[in-house]
Amino acid sequence: MPCEAAVLPEKILSECPRMGLDDTFPFHCGPGLDCFGRCCHDVSIVLTPYDVLRMKRAAGLPSTEFLEAYTLCLVAGQKFPVVILKMNESDKACPFLGEQGCGVYADRPWACRMYPLGAAEPKNPTPTDQPFHFVIREPLCHGHGAEKMVTVREWIGSQGAEAHEMMSGGFKELTLHEFWDKGKPLTEQQAAMFYMACYDLDRFRRFLFETRFLQLFEVDEARVEALRQDDLELLEFGMQWLRFSLFGERSMKLRKDAK
Ligand code: SF4
Ligand code: SF4
Repeated sequence: MPCEAAVLPEKILSECPRMGLDDTFPFHCGPGLDCFGRCCHDVSIVLTPYDVLRMKRAAGLPSTEFLEAYTLCLVAGQKFPVVILKMNESDKACPFLGEQGCGVYADRPWACRMYPLGAAEPKNPTPTDQPFHFVIREPLCHGHGAEKMVTVREWIGSQGAEAHEMMSGGFKELTLHEFWDKGKPLTEQQAAMFYMACYDLDRFRRFLFETRFLQLFEVDEARVEALRQDDLELLEFGMQWLRFSLFGERSMKLRKDAK
């Protein structure tokens, strides 16, 4: 049974029927449907750091320009900065939506790939309370009730969402950390660090190489070279640094002579 879109996020765990990878749902999506592209209007699509990395490359823009042009950053009322896609002011459409559909289809975000599936994770999973998927039903979407049944696993595979899930593992760990349960808000400076290391990777790279950062921490030469060119390595390094500086974990080592 699908979960009505009106269910509040905090009630998903208690109210949405839980689906496992081999459970099926009747769904079909494609250009032939009269609702094609409707789901790309007036919607809050939260971007993961990996989504931003893929999309800024697809748009051919440095991260700072991409974020300024296509995203909004929500800070008020959030534990940490949350980045969402900015819809057009005129028609409320996603700026990447064209006549043929998504203009960044190969690099579209995880949430777009998964729709109409959602994913939820209990804070402290137990053998009987595990991560699960659920189907979101919205009146605008006419793909429900199709003759063809699809399993959750098939849908995720057909949308190429596994790579996004895998690459977002570090971010999930970061954002589910018990640190956030203490309710202590980030300082402005910490929030800016979080935003830069997670989303604004080109600026984070300049921060590493144009300040004394690499003189303060022990980072081997091969990794330093990788950080110059490889966005994924940089993203992983950023998470490591945030765990060190926000949570006080020993995920980085200060040089002996660092002050
Ligand atoms: S990124 Fe693509 S799939 Fe996602 S809302 Fe925009 S146009 Fe639609
Ligand atoms: S509204 Fe539903 S069926 Fe229509 S294009 Fe979007 S996801 Fe596909």
